[in-house]
Amino acid sequence: MNPSDQKKYQKCLEDALFEVENYLKSSADAAAAVEPDKGLGRLSRMEAMQDQQLVMEMRRRKKRQLAEIKAAISRLEMGSYGTCIFCTKEISAERLEVSPETQTCISCG
Ligand SMILES: [Zn+2]
Repeated sequence: MNPSDQKKYQKCLEDALFEVENYLKSSADAAAAVEPDKGLGRLSRMEAMQDQQLVMEMRRRKKRQLAEIKAAISRLEMGSYGTCIFCTKEISAERLEVSPETQTCISCG
C-alpha cells in the first residue's frame, strides 16, 4: 500500500474512532438500567426498556467496532494494514473504503 493511501485510511480510522467513542459516551445514560421508580406509566416503562435493549445492542456492536478500529490503527503503524490476517493477501480498496477497519479479504471475511 502506498503512503498516500495509508494516510487516507488512517484519517478514516481516526474519524471512525472518534465517532464510535462519542456514541459510546453519549449513549451511556440511555443504556443504564431503567429505574423502577421513574414515575412512568406501565406502557412507557415497557417502551423505555425496549429502547434500552436497542441501545445496548447498538453499544455491543460499536464496542466490537471500536476494538477493530484500534487493531487496524496498530496494524497501520506496523505496516501490515490492508492485508488479510488469514491469507495475507491484499484486501481490495473497495472493501477498505466501505469499512476501513476490516481485517480480512473478501474470501476469508
Ligand atoms: Zn484472506
